[in-house]
Amino acid sequence: MPAPPPPPGSATVLSPGATIGILGGGQLGRMLALSAAQLGLNCHIFAPEADSPAFGVAARHTRAGYDDEVALAGFASAVDVVTFEFENVPVSTVRFLEARVPVRPGSKALGVAQDRLAEKQLARSLKATTAAFASVTSHAELVAALAVIGLPAVLKTTRLGYDGKGQAKLTAMAGSEAAWAAMRGQPAILEAFVRFRCEVSVVAARGLDGSFSAFDATENEHRHHMLHRSMVPATLSRPCADEAVATTRRIAEALDYVGVLGVEFFVCTGERGDTLVVNEIAPRVHNSGHWTMDGAVTSQFEQHVRAVAGWPLGSPALLGTGAEMLNLIGDDAADWQGILQDPSARLHLYGKAEARPGRKMGHVNRLRTELGSHS
Ligand code: AMP
Repeated sequence: MPAPPPPPGSATVLSPGATIGILGGGQLGRMLALSAAQLGLNCHIFAPEADSPAFGVAARHTRAGYDDEVALAGFASAVDVVTFEFENVPVSTVRFLEARVPVRPGSKALGVAQDRLAEKQLARSLKATTAAFASVTSHAELVAALAVIGLPAVLKTTRLGYDGKGQAKLTAMAGSEAAWAAMRGQPAILEAFVRFRCEVSVVAARGLDGSFSAFDATENEHRHHMLHRSMVPATLSRPCADEAVATTRRIAEALDYVGVLGVEFFVCTGERGDTLVVNEIAPRVHNSGHWTMDGAVTSQFEQHVRAVAGWPLGSPALLGTGAEMLNLIGDDAADWQGILQDPSARLHLYGKAEARPGRKMGHVNRLRTELGSHS
C-alpha cells in the first residue's frame, strides 16, 4: 500500500535525491530545474505545451492541461513538494494538489497575486502606498471611476495580465469606450497613472521556518511593456531601499509565503525625496532577479529551491560592486556569437527553437567589480 500523503502544508524538509514538482515549463522552470540539479534534487515539470523549455533539463515531465485531474494526481504522487513558475496556473489546480502534497508558495499567495484588486487591497492593508484604484465591470463604472480618479489613468484586466497585456492608457474621456472594449468584457481595475522617476523591484525569499532574505533592490527599464534591463544597485536612497525590502517582507509574511517572490514598485520624487508605490506582486522567481545568477552569492533560483525544499536560505550578498541584466527578446538572441566574444558577458539562452517577436529568448548578465556608474 502506498504511504499516506503528508498532511497538507506540513513542514516537509526534503533530502537530496527528492523531487520538486514544478507547474509551468517556461524559462523560469528551466532555470529552477538547473539549480535544483546542482543541489542533488530532481525536478518533474508539469506543463501543457509540447515545446516547454524546462522539459529538456528536468528528470521527468508530464505534458497535460492544468485541469487534467488524473494527470495532476499522478504528478502529486510522484513528487515530494510542488511549486510553480507561472502565476497564471489556475488556483483550483493548486488547491487540488495541496490536498495531496505540500505546495510552496500556496494557493493563498497565488490567488492574491492573480487578482490586481486583491493585490492592491493587501498592499494598502499593510500600510504600503498604491496608485488610486477602482474596480470596473462596465463602461458606466469606468466613466464613474474616471470622474473620481482623473486622467491620465490606466485600465487593466483584473486577472491574467502580464507584460502590459490587457492594458489601456486613458488620456481623454473620449477614449473610455475604446479602453473598455479592449478589456473584452473582463472585470478590470482603473489605476491613476503614476508619474514615476524609475521602477524598482525587490526579489526576496521566505523560508519554511519564516526566515527572510532579500536581494538588493533592482532598477528596471522597460521597452514595449517588457523588461529590457535590470541594474543593481538601484538609484534609490538607503531609507527608500530599506522601506522597499520591509514592505516586501510584510507582504511575504501576510501571505504565509514560502519561496521567492518579486514586488515591483514605482519610485516617485517629491518634496520629501523618493517615495514608493507598490505596483505588482509576482509569486515566483522574477525576471528582474536574473542578475543574481552571476551577481549574487546565491541565485534567486537556488534560493527558491532551498526555500521550497525547507532548507536554510543562502546569502543574497552582491558579488562585486554592481550587476546588469539585459533581456534578449526575439531577434536579440541571433547575436549570441557576438555576445560570447565579450569577456564580461555571461550568456544564458533558454533553448527556445523559434525567435518570435516579443519572445524572451535569453539574457546576458554583466558583473561590475570596480566603482563607477552603469553606462
Ligand atoms: P504591470 O503589468 O502592472 O506591471 O504594468 C506594466 C508596465 O506598465 C509597468 O512596469 C509600468 O511601466 C506601466 N504601468 C503600469 N501601471 C501603471 C500606472 N498605474 N502608472 C504608470 N505606469 C504604469
